[in-house]
Amino acid sequence: MKTETPVQSAYSTFVEQVNNAQVQRVTIGRDSRRDGKAERIDYILKPEFGPKLGRQRYTTRPVGSTDEVVNQLKRQGVQVTLAPEPLPAAGIAGLIISSGMLVGALALAAKFSRAGGVGTAASMGKSKARSYGKSKTGVIFADVAGVDEAKQELQEVVDFLANGDKYRQLGAKIPKGVLLVGPPGTGKTLLAKAIAGEAGVPFLSMAGSEFVEMFVGVGASRVRDLFNKAKRQAPCIVFIDELDAVGKTRGGNPTGGNDEREQTLNQLLTEMDGFSGNDGVIVIAATNRPETLDPALRRPGRFDRQVLVDRPDKSGRLEILQVHGRGVALGEDVNLADIAAQTAGFAGADLANLVNEAALMAARNNRQAVLMADFNEAIERVIAGLEKRSRVLTAAERQTVAYHEVGHALVGALMPGGNRVTKISIVPRGLGALGYTLQMPENDRYLMLEDELRGQLATLLGGRAAEEIVFGKVSTGASDDIQKATDLAEKAVTEYGMSVSLGPVAFAKANAQFLDGGSDRRTTSPEVATEIDRQVKLLLNNARSMAIEILRLNRGLLESATQALLETEVLDGAQLKAMLAQAQAPAELQTWLAGGYSVV
Ligand code: ADP
Ligand code: MG
Ligand code: ZN
Repeated sequence: MKTETPVQSAYSTFVEQVNNAQVQRVTIGRDSRRDGKAERIDYILKPEFGPKLGRQRYTTRPVGSTDEVVNQLKRQGVQVTLAPEPLPAAGIAGLIISSGMLVGALALAAKFSRAGGVGTAASMGKSKARSYGKSKTGVIFADVAGVDEAKQELQEVVDFLANGDKYRQLGAKIPKGVLLVGPPGTGKTLLAKAIAGEAGVPFLSMAGSEFVEMFVGVGASRVRDLFNKAKRQAPCIVFIDELDAVGKTRGGNPTGGNDEREQTLNQLLTEMDGFSGNDGVIVIAATNRPETLDPALRRPGRFDRQVLVDRPDKSGRLEILQVHGRGVALGEDVNLADIAAQTAGFAGADLANLVNEAALMAARNNRQAVLMADFNEAIERVIAGLEKRSRVLTAAERQTVAYHEVGHALVGALMPGGNRVTKISIVPRGLGALGYTLQMPENDRYLMLEDELRGQLATLLGGRAAEEIVFGKVSTGASDDIQKATDLAEKAVTEYGMSVSLGPVAFAKANAQFLDGGSDRRTTSPEVATEIDRQVKLLLNNARSMAIEILRLNRGLLESATQALLETEVLDGAQLKAMLAQAQAPAELQTWLAGGYSVV
């Protein structure tokens, strides 16, 4: 079943289908055949109303205003995407593209917006909603901002594609699969396109969810098709978006699961095993739920490389705003750095959306340029939208997280063992924590000394200690720290024999790691069990007290470092080093570390 060629349908038919709630997905675009002037609506019907096999795309040309029908779709909860087709060369999302057409584009944008703010920048990536197809993406690395680390890693992939011969001559094995992992809207799809653009190779793409919608057997044969095409066009990129939709762990469902999905996944695995990276095909996949993926996908020779594409920090956000502000008429008073500062937690797509919203605001007010006031209003709108579905920290939360992370870093700075804190960040990480502190061992270590273990405990509890002394209360943010610290303290007592009262007796069973749950302690007398608990608690309480003492002594530094962190969101390198070097050690630290002194 081809889905490439859309069937023309009368606008009145479309309106009727909308009114009967038969429409599943809609893309509103401009028709490239008519200089991008006329509007065009592409859509698909819900499976029960479409053809028996596969998916048929329909296209229609609207007559008059589309406001009514779009509102109706919105009420039905139908996904409406705004697609500037063809996508602009610069890869800028939204309608505000070429500066020459700005005024016209703004007017058009305003029209859509009145219709209920259809489409977000996040859905733009999907705007070329075709099953697969070759395209010169026209996107380059310069269009993707604020994700420098990911770009650096992917630069190599560009080189594989562009200069494959160099690697083949040397007999080097080129990797086959790269998995881009990160929260929605951080630019994974954009990066994949940029790799193709930089290397000047074809980009064949397909979204995981499209495989799964199919009837049995269709998904697998599409995968086969896709790879056959790819091999003919090598060097090229095969991009599989939303890999999690096909790649979920198999056999998880006792009632038989989704056969179609599993068949598709198996076919994908077969295809990936069936060629080598040296054939010039590189498979890039994206997911925001890596934890659900079938482990088979990560085996060597499949997606064995993972690249994290995370939310940008403040300077990253500024770069992204600059990219998206390029084609927009910005007023004199617009300060993008200010905007970056106010948008902690925004992903690239949110920022693209923000610029678009601000432009819409300006259009609504019949302005010639977008002013700061438009941005401020747009920020509020976008944040309101984000708060519903994700994790934008409130100002108070950011502050708590900042004190917490600086607490770890300050305590860690005074501890032995060379576990230097090398980076602290309060950019919400996509995959878990709200902030993080990165500790890098100076050398590979296999043994931890007793004083280092104590130091590690105090460092782990330093975050919570900072919250305690600054706010007089603690948040739930420290649960992971407490878990880790407790595990470590328990090991110290039951495995490493580090408690004087219990002595060098192993209370943990050596094979405990093979057991799931249940007790992993050797059967002990109730008295010994009580003593173990007492010793663990003592270690932890001591560590907590030491952390608090350190932070009290360095309160000024705690404040200034936290301010600096709130300001830039990330502290690392020389700046962090210089700050931490000022930390003062309490007089009793050495004695405590040596285990000869209890601060409780
Ligand atoms: P993802 O695939 O990670 O969900 P997309 O690549 O689809 O995100 O991003 C959607 C849109 O948001 C992009 O087309 C682009 O306009 C904008 N965008 C997202 N991340 C960035 C970025 N790092 N730099 C510039 N624009 C971005
Ligand atoms: Mg995407
Ligand atoms: Zn912590």
